[in-house]
Amino acid sequence: MPTNVDREHLHLKIVQEISDFVNKSTGLDTILKGVVSKISESLHFGIVSVYITDAGTRNLRLAASTGLKDKFKKPVTLSEGEGVTGMVFKTMRPFVSMNVSSHPQYKSIADIQGEAQHDCYLGVPIVLNNRCVGVLVGQTSERRHITPAEQTLFEIISSRLAGLLEVADTLDRLHTQSIVEHTTRTYQGTGASPGVTVGKVFLVRGLFGRTGFMAAPPDSSPTEEKKRLLEAFSRVQRDMKDLISVLNKDRLLSKDEMEIFEAHQMLLSSESPDSVRGVLLSRIDEGKVSAETAVVQGIESIAARFEHHSDRYVREKAQDFRDIGEKLLHELLGLQGSPEVPEETDAPIVLVAQEIGPSFVSMLGKNRVSGVITERGGETSHAVIIAKSLGIPVVIGIDNICELVASGDKVIIDGRTGFVFVNPDEALIGEYESSGKRIEEIRHLFETDEFTAHGGIRASITANIGFPDDVDIALRHGVEDVGLFRTEFAFARFEKPPGVDEQTTIYGDISKRFSGRVTVRTLDMGADKMLPYFNIPEEENPLLGLRAIRFSMEYLDLFREQIKSILLAATDGARLRILLPMVSNIWEVETARQIMDDIAAEVDLDIPPLGVMLEVPALVPLIDEYSEIVDFISVGTNDLVQYLLAVDRNSTAVGHLYTSFHPAVLRVLDTIRKSAGKNRTEVSICGELAGSPKGALLIFALGYRNLSVSPYRIPVVKFISNRISRAGLLSFKKHLMEQKSESDIERLLADRLEEINPALVELG
Ligand code: PEP
Ligand code: MG
Repeated sequence: MPTNVDREHLHLKIVQEISDFVNKSTGLDTILKGVVSKISESLHFGIVSVYITDAGTRNLRLAASTGLKDKFKKPVTLSEGEGVTGMVFKTMRPFVSMNVSSHPQYKSIADIQGEAQHDCYLGVPIVLNNRCVGVLVGQTSERRHITPAEQTLFEIISSRLAGLLEVADTLDRLHTQSIVEHTTRTYQGTGASPGVTVGKVFLVRGLFGRTGFMAAPPDSSPTEEKKRLLEAFSRVQRDMKDLISVLNKDRLLSKDEMEIFEAHQMLLSSESPDSVRGVLLSRIDEGKVSAETAVVQGIESIAARFEHHSDRYVREKAQDFRDIGEKLLHELLGLQGSPEVPEETDAPIVLVAQEIGPSFVSMLGKNRVSGVITERGGETSHAVIIAKSLGIPVVIGIDNICELVASGDKVIIDGRTGFVFVNPDEALIGEYESSGKRIEEIRHLFETDEFTAHGGIRASITANIGFPDDVDIALRHGVEDVGLFRTEFAFARFEKPPGVDEQTTIYGDISKRFSGRVTVRTLDMGADKMLPYFNIPEEENPLLGLRAIRFSMEYLDLFREQIKSILLAATDGARLRILLPMVSNIWEVETARQIMDDIAAEVDLDIPPLGVMLEVPALVPLIDEYSEIVDFISVGTNDLVQYLLAVDRNSTAVGHLYTSFHPAVLRVLDTIRKSAGKNRTEVSICGELAGSPKGALLIFALGYRNLSVSPYRIPVVKFISNRISRAGLLSFKKHLMEQKSESDIERLLADRLEEINPALVELG
């Protein structure tokens, strides 16, 4: 048995090794055999089996197994619901038992010798687009508890297998091609933005990969090296200025996107000793190194400070510094400017890089970039978020991809399954072009759907904004109001907290673009959202610590400035509202109200409506009291779920326990809606749940009519609201509330979506 300590490593390693089988592209059967042997040997399951459905049937076929004693005389098949594995298939729910043979559904399969001695059972469904396409089973002869960690690992592997089965025909076809024909290579990473594309690789190779020049001692003195470095700084600054003015002129990017470049310019122009320039100059002095080495070492040391931060958003800032380093190195090495997509190519471009930094955002804005593949990077990096909203598929996490492809290679990206095919044949390209068309049709279906209250329910759908592109997309989808403006993302584009003037401009500019109300959330700082310029002390458990309104109550001057800026921006007809995050005490609202009153009197301005985010369960029984002092309530399900279920939403160890479809979540959301309704207090939902098809349907069924969602989710949520009725929702809600487990709730929701339109499940 592995010990608890090595289990973690084991899990990561197994998933990695399973990707390697896939990447060798040896056909489905061989990959599945590799997967079952790997699980068996690493996790000590005597028997591991994968059952899959054969095309067009609801029968399961044993496709690969390890640990069974005899060869089978004929193919082993199970019908839907037959035996415990058939039950997992039918119910689409995992099943764990220490004594499976005593289960009433248990059925020994005559052809399988040895199964009976392996009584301890774990079966997880392999689900793709709400369809069960197989079951992954592990059995042991030793009677022991199957740990949640093992179940999670099975679930992670099964989601990979789901992607694999989706492209199974392709893999088999590639496998049976002759060696001469067989030129396609296959890799699987993580799909970070859905959609498919076919294009030509443009390899964005990082100069940081080139270490040759680092070893060379400088040819010249530190004074000369510093001079070279400063000249490089001036040239990069000048190029940056030119780029900004061209981008401004061509209006290629939104104002917020432009701010990324402006932030780079600020980082380059600062001359203090702890600025980028200061750090690099002192490295030349102290290490007697060349300007190039100073750039590589100095930038890496700055980036490392961000990279090891607990907050993913701050971690991704490391790439901003590397981007600047790239530009400086280009200058020092005499290369021209930052990498540019070659103009002469007419094929769509697929950017391939270790990590894509903000300087590539302008490339994404051009139509020829049709896909992105990276080795590293998070799903919340700027480039991924922007790519997502532009409908550009992205696959992240393919180890070493920069070494595995060359510029000009033809490549297919499948952002749903995380698959990448390099040098595909014409038939495969044809297949993917058809799936691309299908996805376009689905998007078009949602986007062109007429929003009319007559056929469906009367719902108000507003936008969550925070990232640069959000405003434009929200407006494109006809949204008039912002239900949640996450101001911490606007703060993140500054090197120090923006002052009253800067903030007033931010809030005023945003509100000018929307004809309706803009709900500005005060800083939600702390825990998983840190900004480098706030020195928040480390805590044992930051999610329960100094964050959101608690942070603002500690840093009252900062809070006052933010309130004042919102009040000042709320002139000229701007319809701003103030929203307080993570309130857990009534005095936090009273203090905020007092500050608003004082500032309003001081500057002689009106007081905007004030609301609280309901994210802490303690507020639920106090909604009557809060209704007396606030104008509206916005339910932040992302946090509410984690506090209600006591599961850290970012934890990998217990991540599988985080679910917005837990029966307790349904009941609490129901209570909140009813209590707010009784008090006639406006209530809306702004957590991610509201933007997913299943979540939106659930929230509508619970009686909510105000949803604030990620801009790119607006069309799909409108689409759903147009096709449901109040009467239908009432009976559906009753059914939902009777369910005892989240998987039953999710399945009901998925089935109902399928009835509304199967495309809702297909797009996910
Ligand atoms: C939430 O918690 O649901 C929410 C909207 O806030 P955030 O995701 O910014 O924490
Ligand atoms: Mg929150």
